[in-house]
Amino acid sequence: MSNQPPVTTTDSGCPVASDEYSLTVAANGPVLLQDTYLIEKLAHFVRERVPDRVYHVKGGGAFGYFEVTADVTEWTKAAFLNTVGKRTPILLRCSSVAGEEGYPDSDRDVRGWALKFYTEEGNYDLVGNNTPVFFVRDPMKFPDFIHSQERMPDTGLRSNNMQWDFWTLSPESAHQVTILMSDRGTPRTWRHMNGYSSDTYMWENAAGKKFWVKYHFKTEQGIENFTDAEARAMRAEDLDCHRRDLREAIAREDHPSWRLEMQIMPYEDAADYRFNPFDVTKVWPHEDYPPITVGRLVLDRNPENFFAQIVQASFDVANFVPGIGPSPDRMVLGRMFAYGDSSRYRTGPNYEQLPVNQPLNEVHNYNKDGPMRYHHNGNQPVYAPNSYGGPKADPQRYRDPSWFVEAGEIMRTAYEAHRDDNDFIQPGTLYRQVMTPNDRDHLVDNIVWQLNQGVERFIQERAVNDYWTKVDPDLGTRVAQSLGLGTSQPGNG
Ligand code: NDP
Repeated sequence: MSNQPPVTTTDSGCPVASDEYSLTVAANGPVLLQDTYLIEKLAHFVRERVPDRVYHVKGGGAFGYFEVTADVTEWTKAAFLNTVGKRTPILLRCSSVAGEEGYPDSDRDVRGWALKFYTEEGNYDLVGNNTPVFFVRDPMKFPDFIHSQERMPDTGLRSNNMQWDFWTLSPESAHQVTILMSDRGTPRTWRHMNGYSSDTYMWENAAGKKFWVKYHFKTEQGIENFTDAEARAMRAEDLDCHRRDLREAIAREDHPSWRLEMQIMPYEDAADYRFNPFDVTKVWPHEDYPPITVGRLVLDRNPENFFAQIVQASFDVANFVPGIGPSPDRMVLGRMFAYGDSSRYRTGPNYEQLPVNQPLNEVHNYNKDGPMRYHHNGNQPVYAPNSYGGPKADPQRYRDPSWFVEAGEIMRTAYEAHRDDNDFIQPGTLYRQVMTPNDRDHLVDNIVWQLNQGVERFIQERAVNDYWTKVDPDLGTRVAQSLGLGTSQPGNG
């Protein structure tokens, strides 16, 4: 075998004469328009980017597998989950939310947890976070929330004032903000954090029985977080610490793994459950729905091409396989539009033909053509119904997952409240019953540090009186004292 490198060519495969020199008139003369290789090289160079994701821009990921470790067929007919020991190839992308590409990995933020299961019945995408809850419960507020975490329109600077203004005017965010301001807001690595569906989904078994479910991927490396000071020090040491850590761990065959635990709620429980189980700002307490271990996720292969396999990877909340579906969780229903639409915008309507996004099974439908399409079905009918053997849906075998809704007037309104629905109960429980004294000290310090970064006084006061004091009076008092503010009693606003 020859050790000679391949000859450089243009993108159309024609050999070129130089990797170093442009075509010029004499040594000191002008560069010529007829240097088509130079022109192709420069023109291609300025088109190297696709539009960023609007959020979750900076991330990293790896391939691996999911293995079923317990029989779940009583709850779902999903083919990839139907046998203990069955393995399905997966891609996991972890990310931060607010920062752009180049932003420090260690900064305080929620981390995205986007999974693609390449199953025999098509791709199943589960797009969650490293926290079990979310900031808002209605997709109408989602763009506003993201805007409040990004940059000011006039200065181009991030703004704590804007963040805390939005959060303190959106009490449903209190649970997520409590977790974000705890040390879980600065995970040490992606390997040392959990992943959650956060949202509620439906599982349906072969007999058509339905269940509401939440997914919890528990790190087998153990939870490890930076303190706030460590996270800020890491900014100077390594902007890419999380991306690097994952890559290096897999390269040295220290394959990270997570245990999948499911919370499973019988379909009928939802209507009368004490909280609205579809409200993504709340967890289902473990004593009500104890987590059941059903599988294991392992990452064992780094991407060979970061752009092709991670930047262009698409995760679409709407990609369900038979046996899994959405729930009345409004955030799921809104996200089912936005994620596929983001991919169509970023990489075009044929993004699912890119190798990283392609399902393992064959695709048959009547979509055709469009930019960059390269799989064509050949001479097949392009319309349905047809008399020429085109693909045919099977409505008996594949029904849309469904649930019953009470008939009512079309309206814009909040979810109907269940008896214990309250934005502050669960973060209060977290503060009082789950956090250690050390966790609570860090939480107070982190909140105070964040509120001291350019947040106007009236917003600090609102954060104390209408937010943290309602989560827990002791927490409110401690934050107020550190900020040099007084408190009003909970509920007095
Ligand atoms: P449990 O005592 O059964 O569970 C508490 C859970 O909190 C733990 O299992 C752990 O879940 C998580 N946790 C532990 N330390 C922290 C921390 N410092 N910051 C954030 N989460 C932590 O109680 P409940 O199920 O009744 O939940 C009580 C509170 O715990 C909830 O209000 C919620 O704030 C929080 N929580 C609950 C979860 C749930 O799904 N029920 C999940 C995560 C948090 P894990 O191993 O998943 O991290």
